[in-house]
Amino acid sequence: MPIYIDADKCVGCKLCLSACPYGAIDMVEGKAVFNDNCTQCGACISSCKFGAIIAEITRKENVDTSQYKGVWVLAETHDGRLADVTLELVSEGRKLADELGVELAMVLAGWQVEPLAQIAAHYGADKVYLVEHETLEHYRTDPFTSVIAALINQYKPEIVLIGATVMGRDLASRIAARIGAGLTADCTGLAIDPETRLLMQTRPAFGGNVMATIVCRHARPQMATVRPRVMKKAEPDLSRTAEIIRSHVDLKEQAIAAKILEIIREEGRDELDVQEAEIIVSGGRGLRKAENFALIRELAEVLGAAVGASRATVDAGWIPAYHQVGQTGKTVQPKLYIACGISGAVQHLAGMGSSDCIVAINNDPDAPIFGVAHYGIVGDLFEVVPALTKALKKELGLE
Ligand SMILES: Cc1cc2nc3c(=O)[nH]c(=O)nc-3n(C[C@H](O)[C@H](O)[C@H](O)COP(=O)(O)OP(=O)(O)OC[C@H]3O[C@@H](n4cnc5c(N)ncnc54)[C@H](O)[C@@H]3O)c2cc1C
Repeated sequence: MPIYIDADKCVGCKLCLSACPYGAIDMVEGKAVFNDNCTQCGACISSCKFGAIIAEITRKENVDTSQYKGVWVLAETHDGRLADVTLELVSEGRKLADELGVELAMVLAGWQVEPLAQIAAHYGADKVYLVEHETLEHYRTDPFTSVIAALINQYKPEIVLIGATVMGRDLASRIAARIGAGLTADCTGLAIDPETRLLMQTRPAFGGNVMATIVCRHARPQMATVRPRVMKKAEPDLSRTAEIIRSHVDLKEQAIAAKILEIIREEGRDELDVQEAEIIVSGGRGLRKAENFALIRELAEVLGAAVGASRATVDAGWIPAYHQVGQTGKTVQPKLYIACGISGAVQHLAGMGSSDCIVAINNDPDAPIFGVAHYGIVGDLFEVVPALTKALKKELGLE
């Protein structure tokens, strides 16, 4: 979104100076002028009462869609490794690119991340756009947006995918606004319409009761965030390699408003994550109080499982939000999901309904969870769960 100051309209009131978070406006001969710190964020536009700061927004119907080609995945990295969702999207992106007969590329922005580029190749990427700079060591919205928006404007991919994670949701919306593209958030299905070659982006709507398929006809690229664990990771092919295209950027730390002072790991985050686990034992409101999650943790420990939770228990403050499974929590696909005292509301099922094997423990025989469970135990969880833990301990020789 290019922004400029109309000098004829500027009255030199200086209101825009305090609206700019980057100190990017100077007064020159009584008129406001952008300096090199300007990131085109647009924060100054509404501060000008005289209409002197103008944003040039590209009208969607003027976009020449034929200029856009290729499928891109934006990489998310943590502690020197690619996030699982990135590899899931590279795998899925490969299928979309093959259907369109175009290249698949991953954008890897960070600091000292080059060794990760060839991992994307193993999962299907033909190219990796690599941007390394010290300011990109940890994710921050502004520099990542500037770097990736510039790459998109330069190379013009037709599809851009990123994980619907905290980072992906933040970054995708900022990029889409910056480049004037459409964005479908939280997709659970992607396909190519063979007639129009448009990306069909499917996501749950109205509390998961409707699956809506969205197409973006006029704007480019077609952008989507995709939930982790809904796309399957391909088997890696270690013989594949990708072409690396380096992009040099001139980022200045002083021009970035957000500073990372310290990274504090959340307590308990060393526990097995529900999205990584093959077995999950989840607790619901049937547990009655926070302390009773001890029953769930004990069973989980015996099974080497992660601890999951319904939103009711998270809202009650019994367990941190990163354990939440469901529509507004995490999507999981373990081999075994044990739901204890969970009713099976549609929003919970949206996050775990595709687990390979679901076991439900509930004292209400009519609870909806039994509608999706492969095995159901109608009974009091305060009797069933400890009995199960005890039996498993014995069976596994842990007593
Ligand atoms: C927009 C939106 C998004 C949402 N997102 C999510 C989400 O991501 N995840 C999610 O989980 N929910 C979500 N919800 C909330 C959801 O609708 C339900 O309210 C929630 O899942 C209920 O949690 P629960 O099953 O633990 O509690 P309840 O529905 O109260 O069920 C408790 C169950 O425990 C059983 N029970 C009670 N005592 C015992 C006992 N002694 N032994 C055995 N069983 C017992 C009861 O029979 C009951 O079935 C969302 C709701 C909305 C509106």
